[in-house]
Amino acid sequence: MLSQTVLHRIKAASHVCVFTGAGMSAESGIPTFRERNEGLWAKHDPLEVATPEAYKKNPQLVWDWHVHLAEKVRKASPNAGHQAVAKLQALVPKVTVITQNVDNLHQDAGSCDVLELHGSLFRLTAFVDKNVMYSDERPPVICHLCKGYAVWEQCDHFADRSDLAELKLATGRVPRCPGCGALLRPDIVWFGEMLDPCVLEGAVDAADSCDVLICVGSSLEVEPAASLPYRALRRGAVVVEINPVPTALSATADASLIGKAGDILPGLLRQVWGIEIGR
Ligand SMILES: [Zn+2]
Repeated sequence: MLSQTVLHRIKAASHVCVFTGAGMSAESGIPTFRERNEGLWAKHDPLEVATPEAYKKNPQLVWDWHVHLAEKVRKASPNAGHQAVAKLQALVPKVTVITQNVDNLHQDAGSCDVLELHGSLFRLTAFVDKNVMYSDERPPVICHLCKGYAVWEQCDHFADRSDLAELKLATGRVPRCPGCGALLRPDIVWFGEMLDPCVLEGAVDAADSCDVLICVGSSLEVEPAASLPYRALRRGAVVVEINPVPTALSATADASLIGKAGDILPGLLRQVWGIEIGR
């Protein structure tokens, strides 16, 4: 399925970058964004729930929607594709995983260097209303614990990061930061929000320095992430695409493998390194 040239270049690579999108998680049974409004939640459009405006209007509703999603995500396990990506770490000197998924499945499979472009459903952060924060002459008090502006008179200086890490995305009232009392939210990128510039910079650096970029299960329709494979291509890195259907990248990639990541990634490891991944 790979030409001999591509096969040899992958085998000789010292830095492999793997970029994954929703298709990777869908194979583990995680609903794609459009499928997340089933059952009780059918009347809520995800595009209208996963936004800062919706949270501001009704934090409890937005919290409950994410708890419902998190319950589904918690039941999912990494698939053979995630396992193959984790296995790469034993075969290549440096592996960077860049993912648009918020489900922690790459880390669950054992991947260490994971850049979460859209954040994580299992980490909490303060809800910060940027309009309020910058509308005042007074500089806001930044809570050292949640990085939100303090809404109470004073932060609790004895609170530390472990206090925040103990708070979980779980049913009940929307939790507050034990340091400053700010309402908390999942640390994911909602509609209308910017990506974390540090994470994006890390992803761009990886795409600009890798020898091989493997793009898995992304329709490559969302910028700026969608341009990462093209950055690698322009530099002359080997770009391999794995997707159930062809995308705009298919025509220019060094190899475009049509099918499931859970089948093709283990096949790639077998072909390049002669390694078998248990299913
Ligand atoms: Zn705080």
